[in-house]
Amino acid sequence: MAKVLIIGAGGVGNVVVHKCAQLPQVFSEIVLASRTIKKCQDIAAGINRPITVEQVDADNVKQTVALIRKHKPKLVLNIALPYQDLPIMDACLEAGVDYLDTANYEPKDVAKFEYKWQWAYQDRYKAKGIMALLGSGFDPGVTNVFCAYAQKHYYDEIHYVDIVDCNAGDHGHPFATNFNPEINIREVTQKGKYWDSGKWVEIDPMSIRKDIDYPEVGPKASYLLYHEELESLVKNIKGLKRIRFWMTFGEQYLTHLRVLQNVGMTRIDPVEYEGHKIIPLQFLKAVLPDPGSLGVNYKGKTSIGVIFDGVKDGKQKKMMIYNVCDHAECYKETKAQAVSYTTGVPAMIGAKMILEGKWKGKGVFNMEQFDPDPFMADLNLYGLPWKIIDGKTIDK
Ligand code: NDP
Repeated sequence: MAKVLIIGAGGVGNVVVHKCAQLPQVFSEIVLASRTIKKCQDIAAGINRPITVEQVDADNVKQTVALIRKHKPKLVLNIALPYQDLPIMDACLEAGVDYLDTANYEPKDVAKFEYKWQWAYQDRYKAKGIMALLGSGFDPGVTNVFCAYAQKHYYDEIHYVDIVDCNAGDHGHPFATNFNPEINIREVTQKGKYWDSGKWVEIDPMSIRKDIDYPEVGPKASYLLYHEELESLVKNIKGLKRIRFWMTFGEQYLTHLRVLQNVGMTRIDPVEYEGHKIIPLQFLKAVLPDPGSLGVNYKGKTSIGVIFDGVKDGKQKKMMIYNVCDHAECYKETKAQAVSYTTGVPAMIGAKMILEGKWKGKGVFNMEQFDPDPFMADLNLYGLPWKIIDGKTIDK
């Protein structure tokens, strides 16, 4: 039905290619491009359909525009890094093609993510008659759709939202990150933030901890973090009084992280080393295990969901929507661990929504702005089935 251009051949890109390739009736042609063409070739070699591979430096708008014009895709899926969001959005704007990503823009020199840079494309995308779908991963992504689904079917008003993200898996390494180490460490070392009674409350990193009982996994120590979907959900879910995001971290991960921070290895400013400048966090990334390689011996599950508290027909209603994903099962299907899998599947489904015309518009959109029903149906069909627990609260 449609040709797509996927940019980025890392852990998540690999899953997106696998999942798109399974649906030739939707993704009739796939072009995979990345900075290192060898990685595209390796992914293509593991797929039982022909995939076209290309080299591109997506920081270079001209190169990306030329690639889009050469292949004429209906949609560009940006599965590279958050740094490439704006240059790829610029290229899509120039070439007049729809855009999708899984993470919001971050400038390279400041560890800060915010939607303001991407929302600023609203008028230009609208004028060009194209759309951008932002954050089509799991969190952000599926968590936003869970909120839209709860709002549509279960609540008159949602007052309290807790997004809870647990990885109870074990990859067997003393320290590794489940997605790009640079992006992951920047995210967890910045200040925490949540929204309460109409304002943002900032806290020191990892300074609020809570034991949360995760479905099918059990109680785990969880820490309050700032996460990008909070910013759009505060805008789009009406009547909210508080929204927070929690993620599990084991003692071993936190101890390693503390040491790396204390010795300066998580710095993102340039440091003079033997006559040239290096950025310690980028060097650290080079010596840590590649997240794409963690899948082989990964055991255990992820359990990610959203806990709601609000009002329906004048009565208080509490519930949770969640998905549980097994690392070993994901590896069997796509040679990837569950963190890459839970991000790559929703990227494919978001693309499918656009190509099938189920989600359409002109401008820049977050996931919760569209009808959640077809997306929720596809989660059940394509590898991320979800369940509801009635009465579930964050404290039990
Ligand atoms: P990886 O580091 O494994 O892969 C990133 C890929 O992008 C690599 O192939 C890399 O190329 C390529 N790339 C980087 N810079 C450029 C460039 N300038 N031009 C072209 N290609 C480039 O990351 P992941 O696969 O783990 O993560 C991918 C994205 O998914 C990230 O944005 C991450 O934040 C997001 N994510 C979202 C989640 C969600 O739930 N929403 C959860 C997890 C991740 P090279 O191989 O040459 O370095």
